[in-house]
Amino acid sequence: MENKMDLNGLKYLIVGSGFYGAVIAERIANELKEKVLVIDRRDHIGGNSYSYTDAETNNEIHKYGSHIFHTSNEEVWSYINRFTTFNSYQHRVLTKYQDKTYSMPINLMTINAYYGKNLNPAEAETFIKSEIERDHIENPQNLEEKAISLIGRPLYEAFIKGYTKKQWETDLTKLPANIITRLPVRFSYNDRYFNDKYEGLPVDGYGKIFEKMLDHELISVKLGVDYFDIKNQIPQDCLVIYTGPIDKYFNYQFGSLGWRTTDFEQQTVETKDYQGTSVMNYAGEDVPFTRIHEFKHFHPERKQSDTKTVIFKEYSRFAKENDVPYYPINTDKDKEIFAQYKALAKDEKNVIFGGRLGNYVYVDMHQAIAMALNTFDAKIKNGQWRQ
Ligand code: FAD
Ligand code: UDP
Repeated sequence: MENKMDLNGLKYLIVGSGFYGAVIAERIANELKEKVLVIDRRDHIGGNSYSYTDAETNNEIHKYGSHIFHTSNEEVWSYINRFTTFNSYQHRVLTKYQDKTYSMPINLMTINAYYGKNLNPAEAETFIKSEIERDHIENPQNLEEKAISLIGRPLYEAFIKGYTKKQWETDLTKLPANIITRLPVRFSYNDRYFNDKYEGLPVDGYGKIFEKMLDHELISVKLGVDYFDIKNQIPQDCLVIYTGPIDKYFNYQFGSLGWRTTDFEQQTVETKDYQGTSVMNYAGEDVPFTRIHEFKHFHPERKQSDTKTVIFKEYSRFAKENDVPYYPINTDKDKEIFAQYKALAKDEKNVIFGGRLGNYVYVDMHQAIAMALNTFDAKIKNGQWRQ
C-alpha cells in the first residue's frame, strides 16, 4: 500500500522512534535547528523500550519486557536526565530450579545454596576453580565452553543450559560466548544484576521520556507509517536515519538474519503480590516460559493497587518475517550474511543505518543512546554524511 505523505523539501527522515532514532531527532531539532520527520510503523513511540501506565493498577507496563536503565557513561546519564528523573530501583533477579529459588547472577549465595555448603569467598573461588578444571577447557570458543570455564559444569547445567536452550533454541556450542559474559559471576554476596554506576527506573515510565524528547516544534512524528510504503516519495537529498532491520532494507538479497522474538502472556492477577520480586527466571526445561515479570516491583515509590498486579510470562521463539525481532542470534552464518549487508550499507547514499536492528547488534538502552550521540557528532552535525 502506498502511503501518501507530503515529503517535499524534507531534509531529515528518521525511521524508527526507539532510543536511537529519538536521540538523533532531538539532536537535529535542538542542535541543528532543522525540521525532522520521525516515522514508526507501530502505533506508539519508543521502540522496544516503550512503557505505559496501566489505569487499573497504576503498574508501569513494559510492553516489550522489563527494561532497567543502567549505565556508567557520564555523558549518557546526564543526557537522559534531561528528560526524566529516576527512582532508586536496583535490579535483583531470582531463578527457580527444581522447586527451589536461587539468586541470579551466580554469586556466593547461589553457590552455597546449590551445593549445600557455607563457603567464604576464598573457599568458594577455590572450590569453583576445581569444578571448572574438571572439564579441561583451555580456550573457550562458544557459549557452552565459556559458561563451563566460568562456573563449572554442575552450575552450568542447573542454571544456564536449560534457560539458554529455551531462550535461543540453538545448539549452545554454536552460540557466541559473549551472550553469557553479559552476566557477572561473583564470589561475594553482591546479588545486583548490573555493575554500573547509575541505575534506576524513570519515575513516570519510558513512554513519557520519548514524549518529552520528541516534543519540539521542529519535530513531526507520524505513527503507523512503514518506511517501505513511502520510500519512493523521499526527496533525493534527504538524509534517512534507518533503524529498522538491515536485511529487510536490502530485500533479504543475501538471506535473512537470525532473530529471536518473544511472546508475552499478560495477566492481571487478583492478589497483592504475585511473586515478591520483579523478575523470576525459570531455569528448567520442564517449564515452557523463560521468566515472569511483575511490574509493580519496579516502582515501590508509587501508589499502586493492593489487590491486583500485572504479570507477563515470557516465551521465546524464532522470529518470522513479520514478528518483532528481539535478539540477534549471531551464529557464524549470521555474521557472514551481516558482513555482506554492511558492505552494501556503506555505499548506500544519504542513508545512515543505526540502532540494534540497523546494526544487527544486541545493545542496551544506554549503548543505543551513546551510539546515536556519537553518530550525530561524527556524521550529521557538520553535514559529514554528504562527503
Ligand atoms: P528499537 O527500540 O527496536 O526501535 C526501532 C524502531 O524502528 C521500532 O519502534 C520499530 O517499530 C521501528 N521500525 C522498524 N522498521 C520500520 C519501518 N520499516 N518503518 C517504520 N518504522 C520501523 N536495555 C536496557 O538497557 N535494559 C534492559 O533491561 C533491557 N531489557 C531488554 C529486554 C528485552 C526483552 C529486549 C528485547 C531488549 C532489552 N533491552 C534492554 C534493549 C533495548 O530494548 C534496546 O537497547 C533498545 O530498544 C534499542 O533502541 P533502538 O532505537 O536501536 O531500537
Ligand atoms: N542466562 C541463563 N540463565 C539465567 C539468565 C540468563 O542462562 O537465569 C543466559 C541466557 O543465555 C541469556 C544470557 O544469559 O540469553 C543473558 O542474560 P540476560 O539476563 O542479560 O538477557 P536479557 O535480559 O537481555 O534477556
